[in-house]
Amino acid sequence: MNHSGTGHSGSAQASSEQPHFYQASEELYRGEMFDNTIKILEEAGKVINCDPNVLTRMKRPKKAIIVSVPVRMDDYTVRTFTGYRVQHSSTLGPYKGGIRYHQDVTLSEVAALATLMTFKCSLLNLPLGGGKGGITVDPLKLSRTEKQNLTRRYTSELGTLIGPQVDIPAPDMGTDAQTMAWMMDTYSQEIGFAQPGVVTGKPVEVGGSLGRNGATGLGVVFIAEKGLEKLGKKMSGTTMVVQGFGNVGSHAALYAHQRGAKITAVSDVSGGIHNPNGLDIPDLLKYVAEKKVVKGYPQSEPISNEQLLELPCDVLAPCAMENQITEANAGRIQAKIVVEGANGPTNGGATKILHERDILVCPDILANGGGVIVSYFEWVQSLQYFFWTENEVNERMRQVIVGAFDKVWELKTEKKIDMRTAAMGQAVRRLERAMLLRGLYPR
Ligand code: NAD
Repeated sequence: MNHSGTGHSGSAQASSEQPHFYQASEELYRGEMFDNTIKILEEAGKVINCDPNVLTRMKRPKKAIIVSVPVRMDDYTVRTFTGYRVQHSSTLGPYKGGIRYHQDVTLSEVAALATLMTFKCSLLNLPLGGGKGGITVDPLKLSRTEKQNLTRRYTSELGTLIGPQVDIPAPDMGTDAQTMAWMMDTYSQEIGFAQPGVVTGKPVEVGGSLGRNGATGLGVVFIAEKGLEKLGKKMSGTTMVVQGFGNVGSHAALYAHQRGAKITAVSDVSGGIHNPNGLDIPDLLKYVAEKKVVKGYPQSEPISNEQLLELPCDVLAPCAMENQITEANAGRIQAKIVVEGANGPTNGGATKILHERDILVCPDILANGGGVIVSYFEWVQSLQYFFWTENEVNERMRQVIVGAFDKVWELKTEKKIDMRTAAMGQAVRRLERAMLLRGLYPR
């Protein structure tokens, strides 16, 4: 195995000889979320006694692409936006990960999210690597035409760096099925034939999968059910609080509501709403479809996003942004289980505090894995031009995500560690084996 140059034998040398070389590239990605992700990776590496040479490689994205995206705006002026695609690892398969449109997108954030994708796909046993993309833009300030122009030019700039065998984007914050349809169309126009396998999360009419739209939220609910089961509880009759009412949060709230949970509070960027007797989620969805925000929903009291996180409940599902639970508020969280629908909503310090307080944190790479599992199913269906029923999709997703939960629980129990380190530990273990088997080229 050590012929590959990635085995244990060179490890002592590697760590003492490389600091200057590595510091320079580390600076490039430095940022709170990226640093947190690397810290978790290092801790997990220690737990499973990962080969240090392999771990060093895992800490660095394989490729980062920065593109400038000129867009003709509705007033006929041209504005130039900055777009990113970070390809973290393709050891297990093509890069896979969403595209985010948000005003705070940075290279560092995209790199952190790409890194998390690698370990999410590894943990879930998918034949996919990790990537992520984004454009620094407030999508709410774009018209539909401007958003389409932006998406098409970004896709064209990425060119053949994406593709069904290379890198397969999907929706993330600020993008949706329509955005994926534009990406798929642009890519297909440029290669000269329809290629639905280039993106996932696209509309069913252009080769998307049934069940993909609600998949991340449904996965959050499957993981919440497993967590509750460990506490001797059932979803029916439990109380749940959801931060973020976009794709992930609204579906998580709906599926939990359908299973008899009482959703006492939800929020979005406009603020939160609270009803201790439980919100009527289908009715709230109609309200949001019309008003665009949860604010002002009649059968509720307003509440801030900060207060919402600290409400007493069985399940707290942060499904909006990163860094929402930190050292500053972790001591006041009253949930029994935190199920991370969003990527990176709890930072490292808060994870430790919650673990010490016996609050079960089901981490992002496990809890929001429903989306990428069904994206994988969509990719397979697109490549085969053969489609499954929604029940097949949901049941197969349940099996994969529940299997991953059991694997994480096993390592958590064996090593007496928190769920985040255990999830990363299992993910690192699979990737480590694959990297050692494939070896280093050239040796
Ligand atoms: P979305 O754009 O559909 O929804 C985001 C929601 O968060 C909106 O309701 C928005 O108003 C709200 N929000 C934004 N800023 C907020 C703030 N400061 N406080 C409270 N709410 C705020 O995005 P999404 O696809 O639902 O993604 C949400 C999170 O889930 C992201 O972290 C994303 O990376 C992660 N995720 C998404 C998927 C997916 O399939 N869409 C899969 C895995 C992980």
